[in-house]
Amino acid sequence: MSTDNALRDVVIVGASLAGLNAAKTLREEGYDGSLTVIGDEREHPYDRPPLSKELLVGESAPTDIALPGAQDLAVTWRLGEPAVALDARRRVVRTADGMEIPYAGLVLATGSGARSLPGFAVGAPHVHVLRTMADALRLRAALSADTRLLIVGCGFVGIEVASSARIRGAHVTVVGLDAPLEPAGPLAGAAATRLAEQAGVRLHVGRTVAAARFTEGVHRVELSDGTQVEADHVVVAVGSVPNIGWLSGSGAELGDGVLCDEALRVVGVTDAVAAGDIVRWPNAAFGGRPMRIEHWSNAVEQGAAAARTLLRGDGATPFGTVPSFWSDHFGMRLQSVGLPRMADRFEVIAGTPEDGGFAAAAYAGDVLVGGVAYGMPRALVAVRIKLARSGVPLEPAGPMHVPPAPGTGQQEPGHRKE
Ligand SMILES: Cc1cc2nc3c(=O)[nH]c(=O)nc-3n(C[C@H](O)[C@H](O)[C@H](O)COP(=O)(O)OP(=O)(O)OC[C@H]3O[C@@H](n4cnc5c(N)ncnc54)[C@H](O)[C@@H]3O)c2cc1C
Repeated sequence: MSTDNALRDVVIVGASLAGLNAAKTLREEGYDGSLTVIGDEREHPYDRPPLSKELLVGESAPTDIALPGAQDLAVTWRLGEPAVALDARRRVVRTADGMEIPYAGLVLATGSGARSLPGFAVGAPHVHVLRTMADALRLRAALSADTRLLIVGCGFVGIEVASSARIRGAHVTVVGLDAPLEPAGPLAGAAATRLAEQAGVRLHVGRTVAAARFTEGVHRVELSDGTQVEADHVVVAVGSVPNIGWLSGSGAELGDGVLCDEALRVVGVTDAVAAGDIVRWPNAAFGGRPMRIEHWSNAVEQGAAAARTLLRGDGATPFGTVPSFWSDHFGMRLQSVGLPRMADRFEVIAGTPEDGGFAAAAYAGDVLVGGVAYGMPRALVAVRIKLARSGVPLEPAGPMHVPPAPGTGQQEPGHRKE
């Protein structure tokens, strides 16, 4: 996009956190042309983290989790209609109902969807994933004091669902190949294991599903160590995949996400930028290492940064960020900053990991690569500031995927004060 005065007709595909923040920033920066947001869900943008927490427990209603500001933006919302193709040569986005929406500037923000697991077909009776409000309401309706729930996957979503399901009184079994919360490192994993077991969750770590049958309303599941589990409902929480299928043939370079340059311009498509879970780009804060980050704060920051790139054209600046995320489960808040999964050692800087809250700095060799804290958010501030100032000096090698993190001043929702 050459100049901000020339920019008319911006189309944003994906009506969620990154797309909304792009729309807000365009308006805040003075863009007064037409703005169309295309979304396949029927709802106006809402917040996803409560889907596995407050909404699932029943503490929040769908109206409580609407993202603020969507109604005041002079936007044409095209909701309930997925984009099915991008014709970059003709500069149109085609939707499932056959409409062609022309654009001068384009923001791709279609996020990610739940990864599926053989044996548990998406949409099959008593099989759940958790990505949308509809998913969360369906799962909530299935959870009662008698429900036997099997959760496959002990990442963030799996562990949060286990916590919420226990609050609703369900009997919960979790099976996972990796240690719980593996990307946050072994100290966090051990703490999550302890909390889950104290809450009455049966954990099978280092196991997977070997065979599964659904008969007479019951899932009969054999784990890889021969353990038999019966469950009324199964939640598949084995990670997510970027929603890029609709971009095939568009000229955009696809792989693990849509490849962008350092300022979030889509490689292979002119006048297009991307933001949020869908983006793989060379992260300046990590020596230009290509990354895709599936965290709330990244979607907020990238939405804003992508919008500025669209407005500034050649004058756009590189976007770099230190990942940071939080997870609430079993009455505790886990916080992570940087990439603790790269660490070969952790140094406890506050508290005691064995029996309560703690904070630890994560090192790869002598390089500070991140930090984690359980119930002690303030204890991470020094690590956070250091990483945000200096980044992490890495070779720009190998693509990375950072599953469900800079907390460069971004306040997380529901952030508890210590
Ligand atoms: C259950 C859950 C709990 C989470 N908890 C946390 C947490 O505690 N902390 C944290 O940091 N992060 C958390 N996250 C991650 C965080 O919510 C995401 O990183 C964030 O929502 C990404 O925003 P996004 O706009 O890039 O993508 P998304 O929020 O995935 O939105 C993409 C939107 O585009 C739509 N779309 C997809 N394809 C098309 C198409 N072809 N046409 C039109 N629309 C399309 C999707 O349906 C969706 O509405 C959680 C995520 C989930 C699912």
